[in-house]
Amino acid sequence: DPSIGQLVRDSAPTFSFEFFPPKTEQGDRLLWQAIRELEVLHPSFVSVTYGAGGGTRDRTVDVVERIATETTLTAMAHLTAVNHSNAELRNLVGRMAAAGIRNLLAVRGDPPGNPMGEWVKHPEGVSYAADLVRLIRESGDFSVGVAAFPYKHPRSSDVDSDTRHFVRKCRAGADFAITQMFFDADDYFRLRDRVAALGCDVPIVAGIMPVTKMSTLERSEQLSGAPFPPALAAQFERVADDPEAVRRLGIEQASELCQTLLDGGVPGIHFITFNRSTATREVWRNLTLPTPVGG
Ligand code: FAD
Repeated sequence: DPSIGQLVRDSAPTFSFEFFPPKTEQGDRLLWQAIRELEVLHPSFVSVTYGAGGGTRDRTVDVVERIATETTLTAMAHLTAVNHSNAELRNLVGRMAAAGIRNLLAVRGDPPGNPMGEWVKHPEGVSYAADLVRLIRESGDFSVGVAAFPYKHPRSSDVDSDTRHFVRKCRAGADFAITQMFFDADDYFRLRDRVAALGCDVPIVAGIMPVTKMSTLERSEQLSGAPFPPALAAQFERVADDPEAVRRLGIEQASELCQTLLDGGVPGIHFITFNRSTATREVWRNLTLPTPVGG
């Protein structure tokens, strides 16, 4: 597999899709249907999240391994530090390497049960994602990505300290970053400017989640750690009782956001798919993509 850090630098803008490891056979069928439907778009890479509270954790390695062996896709595994000793983390990273995985997204993860609960470090584990980046770097030849937060991380007291910690995390050995979902392109551009002002040139890929129903809109606030932009929320409220209109508006809004980001030179767009392909394919069709060099 190619290094994603290299792809984001040399073949920008990249396009990629994020999946989660399903817990049931039905979920597995839906995931593989989505993977096959998206594979034909030739994304730059795909990623598989790491289960928050155990249970699905082995499934991440299984799914990524299967993508690597059965498809043409470049697959990246997310890895979190929750409830893992450093020895377990090294073991997991070794399994990934043995499965031919060269790309990892190093995120700290949230405490199981309550994402905003106090982070309790494993007695022999890491405190921050930056430590996980170093551990991965010491364990093998990986391209390592990290998480970025346009609205600052919900735990951070202010944007400036959040940006400083982000830059330190990059300097620990990250090749690229992917953002939490956001809905206002200016929030992304402000993050990029703050990071550049601290002398950090790690490419920051935009994480995009098309809203397809009112409940995702509500959930997005919880996930992104920021209120949904009020003017946009008002547009959704006006059509709230018409599911098809909500969906159309969500696709239109995500397409506009992606186009503004592309026009502003974003190095990549990472679609959060929730293991469905339709919304992502619709947004994709709406975009005017730069012609790849040589292609
Ligand atoms: P960190 O970078 O460690 O930051 C956590 C907090 O500590 C921040 O407030 C930061 O500013 C602060 N901080 C950092 N360093 C220091 C320091 N030295 N001193 C003081 N404060 C510091 N979760 C999952 O469970 N599974 C996944 O697969 C997953 N994938 C994700 C993918 C993306 C693209 C994103 C954006 C998030 C993902 N998450 C996932 C969620 C993530 O685990 C949580 O948001 C988590 O709370 C933060 O992870 P982090 O890696 O940013 O942590």
